[in-house]
Amino acid sequence: MFIFNTVDEIREFVRSVRASGQKIGFVPTMGYLHEGHLELMRWAKRHCDIVVISIFVNPTQFGPQEDFDKYPRDLERDAQMAESVGVDAIFKPSVAEMYPSGYCTYVDVERITEKLCGQSRPGHFRGVATVVTKLFNIINPDQAFFGQKDAQQALVIRRMVADLNMSMEVVTVPTVREPDGLAMSSRNVYLTPEQRQAALVLRKGLRIAEDAVAAGQRDTFAIRQLVVDTIVAEPLAEIDYVDIYSYPELEPVTKMSGPVLLALAVKIGRTRLIDNIILGVGDKCS
Ligand code: AMP
Repeated sequence: MFIFNTVDEIREFVRSVRASGQKIGFVPTMGYLHEGHLELMRWAKRHCDIVVISIFVNPTQFGPQEDFDKYPRDLERDAQMAESVGVDAIFKPSVAEMYPSGYCTYVDVERITEKLCGQSRPGHFRGVATVVTKLFNIINPDQAFFGQKDAQQALVIRRMVADLNMSMEVVTVPTVREPDGLAMSSRNVYLTPEQRQAALVLRKGLRIAEDAVAAGQRDTFAIRQLVVDTIVAEPLAEIDYVDIYSYPELEPVTKMSGPVLLALAVKIGRTRLIDNIILGVGDKCS
């Protein structure tokens, strides 16, 4: 497995792979890998000949009060994990490599970025869309793999790829969970044992909604309220948002007549966790 730090190096690698007619799968990450990331890489390995991942904690997608500086980083461990699932190359650029002095170009996806995480993290998706565009331009993959854990992000990338005529396929991979149902996240490492237990309230909220829909409930206000009531009952949890939108359009919906996305962002202590489920399609959060 190769590790490249510069755009020129990874481009050279990609060029040689392409010349031999091989199909390239790409998994962008911020590192501190876990099973969720590895699942994306396994999917990439199954669908493509060569798998490239990026590890880049992208400053432009973090707000000024967010955890950019303390975001966990461990390249040695990440490299071992990536190699264990057959990754062929890691692109791990510095911030200066991606945003050299004088940098001033950004990608803005409108409308679907105005709600959910886009509302509570202003500028977040502008940073995501910009860095993903740059990574796509550098690596030029045939397929790129994103997790359903970040449902809105996957939709934003799909929208961007369609709108800007980018010639690759976006594949969305189901959320990978811990055995007790907590969605895997690099940020779970911030949680104390007590907070880790409290964090199960996210999945509990999704489950209650899932059960309500299975029992015939279609009123999204009622479903949302059940989830809110469940989360506020956990003293360590503070709701950022609990919202339901049509899926994949992310339009407001009062009565379910097709799939809807129930998305949560909840702070447990100072750690902001997100999770989601698509209701109305028999999706399961466990
Ligand atoms: P991140 O390193 O958090 O930027 O995540 C990189 C990619 O891994 C994104 O496409 C995420 O949606 C995906 N991902 C993160 N956690 C999970 C998970 N628990 N299950 C599936 N995909 C995930």
